Amino acid sequence: MNWDDAAQAAPDRLLGAAADSDDQAVEAALRPRDLGEFVGQERVREQLGLVLQAARQRGGTADHVLLSGAPGLGKTTLSMIIAAEMGVPIRITSGPAIQHAGDLAAILSSLAEGEVLFLDEIHRMSRPAEEMLYMAMEDFRVDVVVGKGPGATAIPLELPPFTLVGATTRAGLLPPPLRDRFGFTGHMEFYAPAELERVIHRSAGLLDVSVDAGGAAEIAGRSRGTPRIANRLLRRVRDYAQVRADGLVTRETAAKALEVYEVDARGLDRLDRAVLRALLTLFGGGPVGLSTLAVAVGEERETVEEVAEPFLVREGLLARTPRGRVATAAAWTHLGLVAPQHSGGTGSGTGPGQTGLFGP
Ligand code: ADP
Repeated sequence: MNWDDAAQAAPDRLLGAAADSDDQAVEAALRPRDLGEFVGQERVREQLGLVLQAARQRGGTADHVLLSGAPGLGKTTLSMIIAAEMGVPIRITSGPAIQHAGDLAAILSSLAEGEVLFLDEIHRMSRPAEEMLYMAMEDFRVDVVVGKGPGATAIPLELPPFTLVGATTRAGLLPPPLRDRFGFTGHMEFYAPAELERVIHRSAGLLDVSVDAGGAAEIAGRSRGTPRIANRLLRRVRDYAQVRADGLVTRETAAKALEVYEVDARGLDRLDRAVLRALLTLFGGGPVGLSTLAVAVGEERETVEEVAEPFLVREGLLARTPRGRVATAAAWTHLGLVAPQHSGGTGSGTGPGQTGLFGP
């Protein structure tokens, strides 16, 4: 199981960054339509703006664009903006949907001139499809193989020029020949709280929700640097404000609402806290092996590793070391616990089982 599968295995997670069906229904209405409306990502925005403007001035198609970054940071949105700014249609598909080279050939050969082809999760495409894509990107041509065995023949097929926008959660997983065929690569970063506040105010306006500055800041702080999560939490907080308050989302209403949904002040949910609590109380802060930790919280090893850990590591609450998982000093503080003298979470030599709930 990889990151994407693990994320899909926990689809109902309020803090999951992958889109659920509820998100899909509202996201269309919340997507910024042009680069000016797109919040944050200044560097990518400026660089991409130049790429697009230059292409427009030349009257040609924009170079192929690779967008890398975690789910929910705006890769699909940017691909739509690219199409809108170039005044061309967009076709959206994903790596896992293209299992055979023939699937890709069918899509490519039906593209309109200049069209944007958005290929989400491009790192999950099958090998033969990937190889076909090399030639399509470079020469706007594919070889369609007809027949099997010794009688098989390759029929070259000319394609109209198009712009491929590939999205990946891990640019490092792409084979270099594929990576090299993109004219521009944009690395999407997690958003700063102030940027998420802008996203929240913008979405609140579109959804007709009243949010004050404190309310937006409270939601932003719990959104894990991810606009998709910010928009989702905004909707849950809106429900709470409507049912239990006067409809206005203040800092206090947002905090109370997110407490109901078990999203804490730092954006940790129940699973994150369970992992951290087990690490601290059962294993004295570690180091402890991943499998042992997973058993302790009653979850699959992959779920702990792929769903909970990345954020805990990013937040500086947990460290992966060669000897196992270790809690940092910040983890003890966050859960309001006191670290045992000889632990402290930086791998000071404490073995699992030496301290813990009933330790000295
Ligand atoms: P990804 O393709 O990276 O998973 P999306 O483009 O689908 O992410 O974005 C998820 C949601 O977050 C969209 O509904 C969009 O409205 C919102 N969003 C993402 N980035 C931004 C941004 N920079 N400004 C405003 N809203 C954003």
